[in-house]
Amino acid sequence: MEAQVLIRVVPSYARGLPISPPPPRFELSAKPLFRSSPLRSTASRPAAASTEKPRASAIMEASGFDSEGREFKNAEEMWGEEIGKEGDVHKRKEWYRQGVGYWEGVEATADGVLGGYAHVNDADIKGSEAFLKMLLAERFPDGGRGRSLVALDCGSGIGRVTKNLLIRFFTEVDLLEPVSHFLEAARESLVPESGLAIENKTTNFFCVPLQEFTPDVGRYDVIWIQWCIGHLADDDFVSFFMRAKAGLKPGGLFVLKENIARSGFVLDKEDRSITRSDTYFKELFHRCGLHIFKSKVSVLLIYT
Ligand code: SAH
Repeated sequence: MEAQVLIRVVPSYARGLPISPPPPRFELSAKPLFRSSPLRSTASRPAAASTEKPRASAIMEASGFDSEGREFKNAEEMWGEEIGKEGDVHKRKEWYRQGVGYWEGVEATADGVLGGYAHVNDADIKGSEAFLKMLLAERFPDGGRGRSLVALDCGSGIGRVTKNLLIRFFTEVDLLEPVSHFLEAARESLVPESGLAIENKTTNFFCVPLQEFTPDVGRYDVIWIQWCIGHLADDDFVSFFMRAKAGLKPGGLFVLKENIARSGFVLDKEDRSITRSDTYFKELFHRCGLHIFKSKVSVLLIYT
């Protein structure tokens, strides 16, 4: 089966980093800089995703930065330092331990998972809803109504995306989140005391990280991945998508909503994640055997 992938990208800006923001295509919010947020990405790009195919070695050639302004000559150099050479299990474990450790110290609220900027929630959900509607309308003549649709919300945090969006469009939604107090908060808000999930829709709560997750074969129509894939090293990114493809129903889709770097990558030293460029993502999708079905660029303009 050939799976397809959608990208939605929401660049945002951060202070003191070596990449300057491009002019926005449209403005969603005009608020201060994000801190400690999946939205506090350090770079962005101005135009719609390009259609040219990246060369196989492109991502290895592009330089990148870390959040302290240090330049790496390429991704290989950065990953060599962060997760070590193949077989260095300890270093890799440490990368993931620090990533999850960062989020374990964050409060289980929308403000927490959005780095103190819960007010972007509405714009985020509206943009995602328009995209999802278009997608469902294209895939199913009746927009998916009358069908039993199942979604997986990856790196779900407190279930913000599920609660505000996915449960309105899917018959069942599973949540995956490695930070237990986030997942508990999701369960509490989605499964009232009666024990029945909202409209019986949220079904499974998986407390595991993406790099260790293998979905049931053929369960999902949509696997939604928002603001969490930057935590995965390249090889884990590729093996996650390869395993997850088998979790899609025929014709199923991934939706990836992520910040993007203007070029190369930006490593966040605080939460152990990287923001990849559009070219970088395309190279990884190519390695996964995925192709882009639809993409849309949104810009959040954030004043510092
Ligand atoms: N997608 C949610 C939460 C974004 S915050 C939303 O948009 O509201 C980033 C989330 O990624 C956190 O919940 C964090 O715990 C999760 N995360 C961190 N490392 C992860 C990993 N290795 N696998 C899956 N999720 C991870």
